[in-house]
Amino acid sequence: TRTHDIVIVGGGSGGIALAASLLRRQANLDIAIIEPSDQHYYQPAWTLVGAGEFDVASSVKTMHAVMPNPVKWIKSAVTSFAPDESTLSCENGEVVQYQQLIVAAGLTLLWDAIPGLVETLGKNGVTSNYRADLAPYTWECVQATRSGTALFTQPMVPIKCAGAPQKALYLSAAHWQKKGILGNIHIEFHNAGGALFSVPDFIPNLQAQMASYSAQVNLGSTLVAVDGVAKKAWFESKDADGNVQRVEKSFDMLHVVPPQKPHRFIKEGPLANADGWVEVDNATLQHPRFANVFGLGDCMSAPNSKTAAAIRKQVVILAENLLALRAGKPMPMKYDGYSACPITVGHHKLILAEFGYNGVLMPTFGKDPTPPRAIGWYMKKYLFPWLYWNLMLKGREWFARPKKPAVK
Ligand code: FAD
Repeated sequence: TRTHDIVIVGGGSGGIALAASLLRRQANLDIAIIEPSDQHYYQPAWTLVGAGEFDVASSVKTMHAVMPNPVKWIKSAVTSFAPDESTLSCENGEVVQYQQLIVAAGLTLLWDAIPGLVETLGKNGVTSNYRADLAPYTWECVQATRSGTALFTQPMVPIKCAGAPQKALYLSAAHWQKKGILGNIHIEFHNAGGALFSVPDFIPNLQAQMASYSAQVNLGSTLVAVDGVAKKAWFESKDADGNVQRVEKSFDMLHVVPPQKPHRFIKEGPLANADGWVEVDNATLQHPRFANVFGLGDCMSAPNSKTAAAIRKQVVILAENLLALRAGKPMPMKYDGYSACPITVGHHKLILAEFGYNGVLMPTFGKDPTPPRAIGWYMKKYLFPWLYWNLMLKGREWFARPKKPAVK
C-alpha cells in the first residue's frame, strides 16, 4: 500500500485543473493523480476540427506535459474503491491510501451500444466529433458530401456537452451553404430526447437556426442500428399510444454521438448513486456518505450540464472546500451549477449558453445571451483553448471565481 495526502482519479480536464489549483493554494501538498492515458485532450476543440477550423494536433498534449509539478503520477487505471478503509485498487495491483479522494474520471462512450456502428466508424460517411481520431473525418465527410442526405444524432442526456451534437449539424450546413449546395442536401437531426436544448430560453433561436438550414428536427428519435456499407440507419421512436415505431433512413453522411454512461468501476462500486454516477452534494461536491471523498466533472451526480466550463468553476469550489475540510473548518463554497455551452450555429456565429441549476441564465456578457454573436466564435476558436491550457490547467483561476462566492 502506498499513501498520499490527496489522491485524484483521472488526469482529464478536472483532475489536472484541480491538482494545479490545490498546489497554488498550498505548494507542499502531497498529491497523486491516477491516470492510465498518455494523452490529455482539449475535447471542446473537436467541434471545430470537424468543421475544418482547428488542427486536431492542437487539441492534444502528452499527459506528462500537463501534469503539475510536483504531483506524483500513478500510471494505471483504478479498478475499485474501499472508502471505509480510505483506499482504492489499481489495475497494476497497487493499493493506494488517501486522506482525501477526488474522483474525476469522466464518463464512458458506448460506441458498441449501436449495432453496426463500430465496424463503420471512420468510413462509409459515418463519423463522430466525440473522438480525436474521427473528428478530422467529419470534415472530410462534410467536404465530400455535395448532395443527398445528412443525418446527425443525439442520444439521451446526460451527455458531455449536450450542445455538441447539433453544433456538428450547424457547422456542416454552414459549409454547404457557403458552397451554394445546401439546397441539394436534405438534413435531419435525430434527438433521442424530447427538446432541442435543456434550457428553454435558448430553444427559439436554435429552432430558427435549424429552419435557416432547412434541417428537419426529429425529437424522441433514437439511433438503434447502422449498416455503413448499405448506407442505412435505423431509428426508433414512440407514437402517441406508446408503440415503438422503427424507420429506415438512407444517408450519404451520418454524424453519430454515442450513448454515454458512468464508468463501470464507478457504477458498480460503493461511491455510486442509483444511476451510477459518483454521488455528491450538489452544492459542496462532497460525497454524502464518505466525508473525505469528492466528485468532480463528468463522472459525478450533480445535475449541471457536463462541460469543461462547468469544471472551471467546480475546481475553485472543490479546492476551497477540500482545504477547509483538511484544516478542520467548515466548507466555505457552494456550487450554483454554472455551465456553459458555446453553440456554434454557423461560421462566425455562436450562442454562448451559460446557465446554472434549473436552467437559470448566468450570462457573462450582454443582457440577452440567446441570440448568436460573432464575438463568441472568436472566443471559442482562439480565447477558450488558450485559457484552458494556460490558466485552467495551471490553477490560475481569477477568471473562474463565482460571482457571488463564499456562501457560509
Ligand atoms: P475527461 O476530461 O474526459 O477526463 C477523464 C480522465 O479520466 C481521462 O483522462 C481518462 O483516461 C481517466 N480515466 C478513465 N477511467 C479511469 C480509471 N479507471 N482510472 C483512472 N483514470 C481514469 N465542454 C465545454 O466546456 N465547452 C465545449 O464547447 C465542449 N464541447 C465538447 C465537444 C465535444 C465533441 C466533446 C467530446 C466534449 C465537449 N465538452 C465541452 C465537454 C468537456 O470536454 C468535458 O466535459 C470535460 O473534458 C470533462 O472533464 P473530466 O475531467 O470530467 O473528464
